[in-house]
Amino acid sequence: MRKTRTRVVVWACVVAAMASAAGREDRPEWKRPFPAHRIVGNVYYVGGCDLASFLIVTPKGDALINTGLAGSAEMIRRSMAELGFDLRDVKWLLTTQAHYDHVEAMAEVKRMTGAQMWATAPDATLLEDGGKSDFHFGPAFNYPPVKVDRRLNDGEVLDLGGVKVTVHLHPGHTRGSASYSLVARDGGKDYRVLIANIATINPGVKLLNNAKYPRIAEDYALTFERQKKLECDVFLASHASQYGLHEKFRPGMAYDPERFVDPVGYRRAVAEAEAAYRKQLSEERAEGK
Ligand SMILES: [Zn+2]
Repeated sequence: MRKTRTRVVVWACVVAAMASAAGREDRPEWKRPFPAHRIVGNVYYVGGCDLASFLIVTPKGDALINTGLAGSAEMIRRSMAELGFDLRDVKWLLTTQAHYDHVEAMAEVKRMTGAQMWATAPDATLLEDGGKSDFHFGPAFNYPPVKVDRRLNDGEVLDLGGVKVTVHLHPGHTRGSASYSLVARDGGKDYRVLIANIATINPGVKLLNNAKYPRIAEDYALTFERQKKLECDVFLASHASQYGLHEKFRPGMAYDPERFVDPVGYRRAVAEAEAAYRKQLSEERAEGK
């Protein structure tokens, strides 16, 4: 029974990933839940099948990174409850990229928790206008605006209830896309955890002569340089499929932080994104001749 169930879940997630690449369709699979689980130490997964949401638990409240689509607040609340946590303990909200598939439920979660929304300055602009000023998706793919309480800078170290989380500005996918790193301790061992925003390019986005984002090609290049210098043990990302969640973890598996240790997978994900960027750049250059 479990085998069949697992296969269905994996299939649904593949469909979701394909749909998200094509644009907004709001397929039911996008809202499909995934078993909440402990990743390593104080870091937990409370997201859906592919749209990842991460919870960092601290002695003074919890931080939630990404919320998924509208209506996901209840799914996150249930996931947290399954793990023994209370949504109302969320004190900080963060995002890896202010696109609707990662922040559409942010306003709702903020209302339910009274948590502070913290974001990089460029993504704060998007969050506050509900994505309407997005260089590619705006204003059609908008979402409920969220007031940002604090603007974050590249390299800033956040003190989340005593847990130190470093902000990495990784622009390109959105101007303010960000990754986050922290050290999680478990079983006497320190794990360098990286929640990465892999710098993919949405279909239809131009890297050259992009009037709405003139520095987009340079920003992507900067992000790849920065990401290649980052090192991690545990690799996590905005989309579950990007870090191979469904290969690493299946419903019912016991807690084992080692299963998420994947520095090679991280380097490969960055290399693949950079190769796609270089390919598109050379194609656009060839077309321009
Ligand atoms: Zn996106």
